[in-house]
Amino acid sequence: MAASDFQRPGKLAGKVGVVTGAASGIGEMTCRKFVAEGASVVIADIDLSAAEKLADELNAGGSQVALAVRCDVSKMDDIEAALAAAEKTFGGVDIMCNNAGMRSIKSVVDTSEEEFWKMLDINLVSVFRGIKLAVPYMKKRGGGAIVNTSSAYAHVGSAGFAAYHAAKGGVSSLTRGASVSLLKDNIRVNAVVPGVIHTAGLDDAVHQRPNPEEVLASIIEKQPTGRLGRPEEVANVIAFLASDDAAFVMGAEYTVDGAYLTAA
Ligand code: NAD
Repeated sequence: MAASDFQRPGKLAGKVGVVTGAASGIGEMTCRKFVAEGASVVIADIDLSAAEKLADELNAGGSQVALAVRCDVSKMDDIEAALAAAEKTFGGVDIMCNNAGMRSIKSVVDTSEEEFWKMLDINLVSVFRGIKLAVPYMKKRGGGAIVNTSSAYAHVGSAGFAAYHAAKGGVSSLTRGASVSLLKDNIRVNAVVPGVIHTAGLDDAVHQRPNPEEVLASIIEKQPTGRLGRPEEVANVIAFLASDDAAFVMGAEYTVDGAYLTAA
C-alpha cells in the first residue's frame, strides 16, 4: 500500500454495490454512504416506491449513481434480477450487502412452525441466496466483497424473538463458512453485528408491544451508552468492510452496538 492510497477520492470509487432491504434504516444509510464514497448502488427493496424515492434523491446531482429495483429476498429470481440490473446499468457487481430482514417478537412456544420457517427464509435463506447469486457476477470482476447484516441477537438470548435469534445465528455462521469457501475466488465475506439501532424497523417492533413508549424507554435504559445506535453508524462499518481498506478482513463479525454485547 502506498501513502497515496490515503488520498483516494472515496473509498468505494468506481465500485458497484447491490443492497437489499435498502429503502429504510441501515440499508438506506448504506446506500447513502456508498454513493458518498464514490460507488454506484442498486437499491433493492420490496417497497419499490420507497426505493425509487431514495434513488431520485441520490441521482439528483446529475449522473446516475442509484437504481431502484423491486426485490423480495424470499425469491431467487428477484435477487438475480437486482444483480442483472446492476450489471446492465453500472457494468458489474463488486459489493453485495445482504441486509434485508424482519423481526418477530414471539417465544419458542408461541411461534408456529410456519412462522419459524418464514423468519428463517427472510433473515437467513435470503443471505444464502444473495451470496450464491452474487458469486458469478463477482468472479467476472476478479473478486468482490459481501457484507451480511447479522445482529447482536445472534449472540445473546431473550424470551421473545425465538426464530430471529436462530436466523441471525445462522447468518453469522453462514458468513464464516462462505468466507472460507470463497477465498479462492478473491471474494471476501464478512458480517456486521448491529446492537439496537433506531430505525423504522425498530419502531415497528416496539409498536407491536403494549405501552410502546415504556418499551422504548426500557430498551434505552439497557444501553451502556444510554442511547440507541444510529443507522449511519452501522453503514460506516459496512462501507469499510466493502472497501479495499478491509482487504485482509475475511469471515469477521464487526460489532456496532455501543458495547451492548461487551457489557451484557
Ligand atoms: P428497516 O425495517 O428500517 O428496513 C428494512 C427494509 O427492508 C425496508 O425498506 C423493507 O421494505 C425491506 N424489506 C422487508 N422485507 C423485505 C423483503 N422480503 N425483501 C426485500 N426487502 C425487504 O430495518 P433495519 O432496522 O434497518 O434492519 C435492517 C437489517 O438490520 C435487518 O436484517 C435487521 O434484522 C438488522 N438489524 C437491525 C437492528 C436494529 O436495531 N434496527 C439490530 C440488529 C440487526
